[in-house]
Amino acid sequence: MTQPVVIAVAITGSVPRKADNPSVPIKVSEQIESTQAAFEAGASLVHIHVRNDDESPSSDPEKFAAVQEGVRKHCPGMIVQFSTGGRGRDQSSRGSSLIHRPDMASLSTGSVNFPTIVYENHASLVVDLATRMKAGGIRPEIEIFDLSHLHGARRLVDQGLMDERPHVQFVMGVQNAMPAEEHLLDIMLSELKRVLPQATWTAAGIGRNQAKVMDWALTRGADAVRTGLEDNIRITKDRLAASNAELVSIAAQTVARHDRAVATPEEARALLSIR
Ligand code: ZN
Repeated sequence: MTQPVVIAVAITGSVPRKADNPSVPIKVSEQIESTQAAFEAGASLVHIHVRNDDESPSSDPEKFAAVQEGVRKHCPGMIVQFSTGGRGRDQSSRGSSLIHRPDMASLSTGSVNFPTIVYENHASLVVDLATRMKAGGIRPEIEIFDLSHLHGARRLVDQGLMDERPHVQFVMGVQNAMPAEEHLLDIMLSELKRVLPQATWTAAGIGRNQAKVMDWALTRGADAVRTGLEDNIRITKDRLAASNAELVSIAAQTVARHDRAVATPEEARALLSIR
């Protein structure tokens, strides 16, 4: 029997997009509702950013807590992952939501250029976030925007801040960062096998790259796939995604086409070593 695939849904993100696609959930209540529909469509992991009422990125720990509470209530067993990403948030507040002890948190292990900013992850910030995550029993999802970030993750293992089996996500197709090219995924995977052989992994394709990166990942036996309006707001060039749930349904169809089953929340927790 083949291993089931975790579907991760990134519901909101940190780039203002409501003007481009009104389906992007912004308010806490919209985020919970959108997550529940995505859960019912097959998602077992939700990646969360929160927003202020004017749509700008928020670091308010209480907003994170409110979304988590709603997800736990309406989506039993779903893995809750908070973003510690930096866009629009100052360095000191990036780990503030971790006091609410989500199941997982994203962790970038190096800096990289983004479309209009430098996504800055100073080595000391990476160590600080990893230390807090370890103390809170929060599983890391390592965000890989560049090859050196894999080595940044390995250093955290060597420093005792992370176990040998983190979940790793390759992010492809962010303008000015790693392009969405199939041979680059092979390079990254061969280096992952060398430096973190026990890690689980997934790959995210941004924008129009979403579908093809998902196919490449499943062809190579990925443990998870990622979708959601944070990464991509369109079904085709001419049609907007109606919801996160629609994107999750498409991901579930892609998983089935690769003769794999969609993981239940229990299976997802077992796969990613989450209690
Ligand atoms: Zn994110």
